[in-house]
Order: sequence, then C-alpha cells, then structure tokens
Amino acid sequence: MKILFVSLGCDKNLVDSEEMIGLLTENGHCITNEDAEAEAVIINTCCFIHDAKQESIETILEMARLKTEGVCNKLIVCGCLATRYKDEILDEIPEIDVILGTTSIDKILEALEGGDRIYMDKTDRMPIVKADRVSVTGGWYEYLKIAEGC
Ligand code: SF4
Repeated sequence: MKILFVSLGCDKNLVDSEEMIGLLTENGHCITNEDAEAEAVIINTCCFIHDAKQESIETILEMARLKTEGVCNKLIVCGCLATRYKDEILDEIPEIDVILGTTSIDKILEALEGGDRIYMDKTDRMPIVKADRVSVTGGWYEYLKIAEGC
C-alpha cells in the first residue's frame, strides 16, 4: 500500500515515525510524498501547546479531504494529540479510521490492515518495534530518543 506519512511535533515523535516507517516498509508497504497516490495517510500528531494542537487538527482536516478527492481509504491518527484527545477527535472528525496511541506504535501494521478503530495501550507500556528504523534526516545525523513525552 502507498502511504503518505506526516510527522509533526518534536524529534521524539520523529523517532517514533521512523520506527513505524521501518515496520511498514519491511512489510511490503511504501512511502509516497504524492497526495494523489496515497492509499493511506498516517499523521503522527503533537499537542504540546495551542499552536501545535491547531497544526495537528488542521493537518488531519487537510488530509481527510484525500478520502474524497484522492484514492485514500484509510486515515490513521497517532501521536500525542491522538492519545490525549482520542474521543474528541473521533467524534469531531469522522473521516478518521484509526487512532493509535504513543505506546502502541509497534501495532501500526494492525492499525493499517486490521479492523479495530482504537489501538491504545497503557501509558507505561514500552513498545518494541521489530524492524530497522528508517532515518528520514538524510543520513548525516539521527536523533536518539532518551525520554518519552515532553
Ligand atoms: S512529546 Fe510533546 S512536543 Fe513531542 S510530539 Fe508529543 S506533545 Fe509534542
């Protein structure tokens, strides 16, 4: 499946995104930058301050249009906004198909291929992603995550 992956927020979120991309690409999916060919969209959100929440919500709404204008048939929202406000955003934005919590990133394949609407583990769970992380920082440097949350 061709996936458009949008990573917002901090560098810790970017590391989670790189791990999810590794899991997806090792299992036959590919990443695209083209809106028009995206069969699924994954948005890794942030909710640190008002502007970050606003950016996350605007991005979800912008990507939701691909379900009617493009070939997208799955919109997955993960990350901090999804974890903190899962009920609110599911109620307000019906285009969202799946919510994935920050401690459930190792379940991104199930979120993409399965039928459940919410994948949300306890906040003290430490997900183990069994795939090589795909660096999106160009190869000259990578972030090392030494803590969770902000
Ligand atoms: S850890 Fe904090 S800054 Fe980073 S994405 Fe989550 S809310 Fe945003």
